[in-house]
Amino acid sequence: MWIYRQLVLVTTLCVLSDICSVDAIIYAQPSEASIFCRVYLFFVIWTSYLSFNYVCYDIVNLRNKKRLRHIFFLITLILSVIPFMLPISIMNEKNEVYSYGPAVSYTFIVAPIYIIGCIVMILFFNKLMNPYRSQAAMLWMILETTGAMIQLFNRELLLVSFSMALGITILFAKMENPDSGLDRNLGIYRIQMLYEYLKQLFYSKKHDCSFIIITGEDTEKSISSENLLLEISNYLKKQTSDKVFRGIGNDLVVAFSDDGTSDRQLIQIKKRFEAGWSGNQFPHPHFISIPSLKPFHNVSEFFTAYRYYSNIVSDSHEDFFVIDNDAINNMEKFRSMQNEIKAALKDDRLEIFLQPIYSVKEHKFVSAEALVRMRSDDGSIIMPNRFIPIAESLGQIEQIGERVFELVCKLIHDHDIDSIGLQYIEINLSVVQCENTELAAKFLKIMHKYGIDAKKINLEITESGAIKQKDILLENMEYLRKFGCTFSLDDFGTGESNLNYIVNMPVDLVKFDRTMVNAYFNNEKAKIMLESVTEMIKRMGMHIVAEGVEEKHQLEQLSKLGIDFIQGYYFSKPIPVSEFLDFVRRNNSSTSKL
Ligand code: C2E
Ligand code: CA
Ligand code: CA
Repeated sequence: MWIYRQLVLVTTLCVLSDICSVDAIIYAQPSEASIFCRVYLFFVIWTSYLSFNYVCYDIVNLRNKKRLRHIFFLITLILSVIPFMLPISIMNEKNEVYSYGPAVSYTFIVAPIYIIGCIVMILFFNKLMNPYRSQAAMLWMILETTGAMIQLFNRELLLVSFSMALGITILFAKMENPDSGLDRNLGIYRIQMLYEYLKQLFYSKKHDCSFIIITGEDTEKSISSENLLLEISNYLKKQTSDKVFRGIGNDLVVAFSDDGTSDRQLIQIKKRFEAGWSGNQFPHPHFISIPSLKPFHNVSEFFTAYRYYSNIVSDSHEDFFVIDNDAINNMEKFRSMQNEIKAALKDDRLEIFLQPIYSVKEHKFVSAEALVRMRSDDGSIIMPNRFIPIAESLGQIEQIGERVFELVCKLIHDHDIDSIGLQYIEINLSVVQCENTELAAKFLKIMHKYGIDAKKINLEITESGAIKQKDILLENMEYLRKFGCTFSLDDFGTGESNLNYIVNMPVDLVKFDRTMVNAYFNNEKAKIMLESVTEMIKRMGMHIVAEGVEEKHQLEQLSKLGIDFIQGYYFSKPIPVSEFLDFVRRNNSSTSKL
């Protein structure tokens, strides 16, 4: 505000002296006119200097940098008196009234340096600036530059001070109008003000503030949702008597000036939401609490975390999330892994390892599970449990899944797996992939590209509460099954599986999870369960794979029980393609069966 006021004052003086100089050229003596012209040039330099200051305000905390400020001030003072010492000429003919000569040329070299400085600052330090200010300032700079360029080539068009004045009017409308800080409909502060408010807090090192962010699933910006927001924001203003801002989209943000309040208030606010509102209901509200500003260094970090977690929270079932130190650290880890995945996809650094699956009845290896690996820059291998969950939550899993599918198709195309006794390869599908309506079409296209018989592909699905659109999964399954793909139910016997699933899902194989297989050998009740479930599944006409078999006695006992297929370290860990092919060739041809 302080810099802006100076800017308005000096720009006004600049425009006035511009008008006076034209007047003086026409009506006064040339010697008097040249003084007015020089005063005008003086203010042009000062306006440019203040523009630069204004842009820098967000980037460097000028208030604390007294020396820097003084040095800049002094330099500008010197630069701005130089026009008084340089010769100036005056043109006064019919329609052409202007000044020219060394003093004018000098000013039109110095002033643009500040303007270029502004543009460079906006471009390079964009992230540090209030985005609304950087947009407005950029527009302003473009206006000024355009005005100056037009005047440079059409001297009679005196546009410079006019464009300067227009520029700061735009700033006023976009940024500096005290009323523009308020949201017209809701009477709460706009998001621009949240930036400004946070900036102040970081400047004054006031970190013991807390925030509550209320975010919903994408509500359409309809009248009814505005009415609802009005009711909610009125409640928040009354209830908390603290600052209420409009956040990103239709989010609402409440700021508390100390660090315990948000916890207490959150309980109240949640209760109020549960009680319901008079009109529409807020669709699936999620509450994010930020108990302190300490984990953040600046405003941009605050907003990065806000954006990041509001996306995650609205996709999850939790209605409440706290952004604290741990959350910030996790976010950093997530983001660096996200970049790693992006690079791996781009540089083609995803590989598949294969783990052979043994058929008890045929006494040989009849299939394998493809398991993805990521080769990092330094050649080491990153295991899927480190990157799959992240890829799932950050939306990269579909690309990974497609890549894995393609790698398997390529393997089947390049090597005659039939001839070594392999009937199909199992590929893991993530829940996210299953909910994609295009999945079946994409996979069919890839199989077609490699000329693969769909019978050679078995897709592993897992049961998960996270599946929201089971109908899409079923459609995908039906479609692919028509072409010959088979399906397995993976991870059976872990937390999320329920018996209904095998009844309802058209799967051919059920894969017993390692934990269930291990429990079978250690726990009497688990033993009874596995035996009963085995009988049940077989009666339903499905086959069973036992995973995680590491010892011979396990293999023997499970075989006796009637388990059809065995997978585990006892035979082999997941291994690279060529090693795997050798392994199967060697073992399937030898007469001494395992
Ligand atoms: P999963 O589908 O249950 O795969 C089996 C995991 O158990 C593999 O771990 C395998 O190495 C391991 N395993 C196999 N036999 C034994 C054993 O005898 N003992 C022990 N201790 N472990 C055994 P991996 O390769 O680290 O994969 C972990 C998980 O990552 C997989 O679990 C799967 O959920 C996921 N995953 C792997 N590849 C893909 C993929 O291409 N797409 C998707 N969506 N998920 C994948
Ligand atoms: Ca699997
Ligand atoms: Ca499994």
